[in-house]
Amino acid sequence: MSAPETGKARHIACGDIVPDCTFTASAESEEELLDKVVAHAAQDHGITEITPELAAKVKAAIRNR
Ligand SMILES: [Zn+2]
Repeated sequence: MSAPETGKARHIACGDIVPDCTFTASAESEEELLDKVVAHAAQDHGITEITPELAAKVKAAIRNR
């Protein structure tokens, strides 16, 4: 009994990383989702450099569903 693998979506809530932020995003792949998060971080948080530490936090916050 395994769940269907089609249309795997990734979802992230920025609030899991940055308290009080209400930004959420979803995408079909982790890469696409990371692109959206990076764009949001630059625009709304002034983060222009994704450090390995931040990248790890982001990846830990990604939900599959
Ligand atoms: Zn945010």
